[in-house]
Amino acid sequence: VSAVVERGERARQVAGSVVDPELPMLTLEDLGVLGDVEVMGDRVVVWITPTYTGCPAVATMRADLRLALTAAGFADVDVRTRLSPPWSSDLITERGRALLAAHGIAPPGRVDAEPGRGTGPVDVVLGAPVRAAACPRCGSVRTREISRFGPTACTSMHVCASCAEPFEKVKER
Ligand SMILES: [Zn+2]
Repeated sequence: VSAVVERGERARQVAGSVVDPELPMLTLEDLGVLGDVEVMGDRVVVWITPTYTGCPAVATMRADLRLALTAAGFADVDVRTRLSPPWSSDLITERGRALLAAHGIAPPGRVDAEPGRGTGPVDVVLGAPVRAAACPRCGSVRTREISRFGPTACTSMHVCASCAEPFEKVKER
């Protein structure tokens, strides 16, 4: 039994170490894209929930997962996508958020914490708009969005009024 458990853990570890093609500082696990990893004998089924439907990165993720697991000794690798429940930026781990910030990319705000979402009482928010991104370089919230689309589908471009630096931000979703 323990060999089976170990093999399952090994598959999970290998799949969890594969990086996102668009945000390579994050693993698929950090990004919350990696779902269940099921080992049945020589066969591994890896479930992923892409950040965006029809995301061109999915083909790359699939190939990278297959390659990594094959190299780790799993002969038969099947990568499947699960679209429901959909991916949310809230699934990005704390480690993932810290890594984004360390690479100059503002992490997304919490979708669940925004007014009008969830079941709690609606908050009254005064001052800065909820989605004002904090500058990853100087921490200022005096920033504005300059483009809805950054270099990748899941990021937007912002500029900081305090340090004048442009930066990318992972969009809430
Ligand atoms: Zn700044």
